[in-house]
Amino acid sequence: MSRPRVPLVAGNWKMHKGPAEAGRFAAELLRAIPNDRPPVEVAVFPPFTALSAVAGVLKGTPVAYGGQNCHWESKGAFTGEVAPAFLTELGCRYVLVGHSERRSLFGETDETCRKKLAAAVAAGVEPVLCCGETLAERESGQTFAVIERQLQAALAGISPAVAFTVAYEPVWAIGTGRTATPAQAGEAHHFIRDWLGRNLSPVAGERTQLLYGGSVKPDNFGELLKQPDVDGTLVGGASLDVTSFCGIIRAATVIR
Ligand code: PEP
Repeated sequence: MSRPRVPLVAGNWKMHKGPAEAGRFAAELLRAIPNDRPPVEVAVFPPFTALSAVAGVLKGTPVAYGGQNCHWESKGAFTGEVAPAFLTELGCRYVLVGHSERRSLFGETDETCRKKLAAAVAAGVEPVLCCGETLAERESGQTFAVIERQLQAALAGISPAVAFTVAYEPVWAIGTGRTATPAQAGEAHHFIRDWLGRNLSPVAGERTQLLYGGSVKPDNFGELLKQPDVDGTLVGGASLDVTSFCGIIRAATVIR
């Protein structure tokens, strides 16, 4: 059976790899990436300081890259911030918006996510909007309410024609080794797709790639991807090693 959406395997390097290591990794990834695979999109998210080095290797190749964050203004007195257009200039296809570490450690709110998402779209960078509940929220039955609030806030006012990706990343699964079960991921993704279809447009619901993130490894990704609304993954720890990242890309070739 063919997939309605091309799977995307994306690596979030967080605060790992300086420019030299990142450039070497990108070159190694290009050599190692399975080239006998059916269509699978691949992307990496290096730290800002490594983006130039990664762009030098990956620009013009099938492996995309993006920023882990951006500001919503295009320029100004915002020390330490990066404008979306700076990412476009480096050839970034994507930018992460609202990763849970940005929300919990750096004070990002639903409102800043909305502004960042709109600014990224205006600059021609495709946002990967991250959402997901904490353990306490899951255990108190608020999972869908939290996801809905995050989607509603970040996507407020967006044109239904805009392309973006959503990464469902339950906070309790990120970096913990505790992966969501395929059923848990599947029902959250189904909820997100249904929400997009009802609140943006049926086309947006159908075509938007939904990624699962949270302790994904080569040996657990195949089962997650069998869920009809899981279209790929945003991987942290296991994306830092070429062998495990390529193992996840290979697992994405599973035919469901
Ligand atoms: C992430 O940082 O988005 C993530 C999913 O991390 P990990 O794969 O390490 O859980």
